[in-house]
Amino acid sequence: MDPLFDLTGKVAVLTGAGGVIGGAMAKALAARGARVAVLDLMPAAADKIATDIRAEGGEAIGVKANVLERDSVEEAAATVVSEFGPVDMLVNGAGGNKKEATTAPDLSFFDLPPDALRWVFDLNFLGSVIPSQVFARPMAERNDGVVVNISSMNSFRPLTRIVAYSGAKAAINNFTQWLAVHLNQGGASNVRVNAIAPGFFETAQNKFLLREEKSGDLTPRGQQIVDHTPMGRFGEPDDLIGTLIWLVSPAAKFVTGIVVPVDGGFSAYSGV
Ligand code: NAD
Repeated sequence: MDPLFDLTGKVAVLTGAGGVIGGAMAKALAARGARVAVLDLMPAAADKIATDIRAEGGEAIGVKANVLERDSVEEAAATVVSEFGPVDMLVNGAGGNKKEATTAPDLSFFDLPPDALRWVFDLNFLGSVIPSQVFARPMAERNDGVVVNISSMNSFRPLTRIVAYSGAKAAINNFTQWLAVHLNQGGASNVRVNAIAPGFFETAQNKFLLREEKSGDLTPRGQQIVDHTPMGRFGEPDDLIGTLIWLVSPAAKFVTGIVVPVDGGFSAYSGV
């Protein structure tokens, strides 16, 4: 193993890791020797990923956690520490959007219900802040650790229709820089905080925007995304792994406070 990328024995916590992107990341970290805690609101989804990892010879546990409830995250942290010991890396993967907070021909911006907007904003912003409060505290005390947030393309320029999701992901970029500086200036000069901004990946939370429900064909929006992606396709969860490994490994030991686009060129293309 190249020491620059060696994760052997490191303890990794991933939230939302019962999902598509978090699950792929959990498997990738485990395959490189990390001991992985798969946190998710849905315990069956978390257990499934952990079982898959163990079947491949890796070390993993599934742990139920609601990233919006401090007590739930504290409880999960206690389980992880008693099972694996101190946590070396946190990947804040829980997030998502919902139809009720998305403008549509029959749902104008002016009528979006505050509860739906709050739900989306909280999940995508507070849902990374609260686990960072819980898991980065011991990292700061030990002056060792890494946090990786999962942002999105709409953090740089908002995408149409998804106002709360766009705003929350922009806030995640800001929080990534803020926490990186805060921890370093508070004496934890060896704790790093970065983010990955994925382009477009087909997952449960966005399927309704990308594919026609009955035919499975691309929606006009889905086609527009592919047309605006110079590499001409949606991303696959595996496309994110190299960047994740880099950010959590010694190879990135002087990298903090950045947001890395992994988007097939989407953010570079003006559309002309
Ligand atoms: P997903 O829906 O497959 O996974 C999200 C997971 O988060 C689910 O397993 C869900 O149970 C869990 N979750 C939801 N609320 C939770 C809570 N309160 N506490 C704990 N877990 C909770 O979605 P995904 O596409 O894999 O998304 C992972 C991350 O990547 C999200 O932050 C998402 O915003 C981001 N992202 C996705 C895309 C994309 O194209 N799919 C693009 C950019 C960014």
